[in-house]
Amino acid sequence: MKEFISEAIQEAKKGNTLYGAVLVENKTNTIVARAFNTVKRDSDVSAHAELNLIRDFCKQNKILNLENYTLFTTCEPCPMCYYCSLGKGIKDSFWFEY
Ligand SMILES: [Zn+2]
Repeated sequence: MKEFISEAIQEAKKGNTLYGAVLVENKTNTIVARAFNTVKRDSDVSAHAELNLIRDFCKQNKILNLENYTLFTTCEPCPMCYYCSLGKGIKDSFWFEY
């Protein structure tokens, strides 16, 4: 878990914000996607790290069900990101403040 937290922090630093996220495949316990907040860069109010991660991973892999994945984020997900992750089947999310 320490590795996943560290990777999420590294993602956050790429965007110069406090917000980063990684998606871990439960079977292999490996990181399969990373993202950071791009709200300012993209002038997109929905470009939170978690939504960027879910949107890009689903699009790239042509899947909508993420029940076999776990989300790690650097902050508590906002309601928009939380419900999106639930809607995609993510059962476990872990966050931490750094
Ligand atoms: Zn959010």
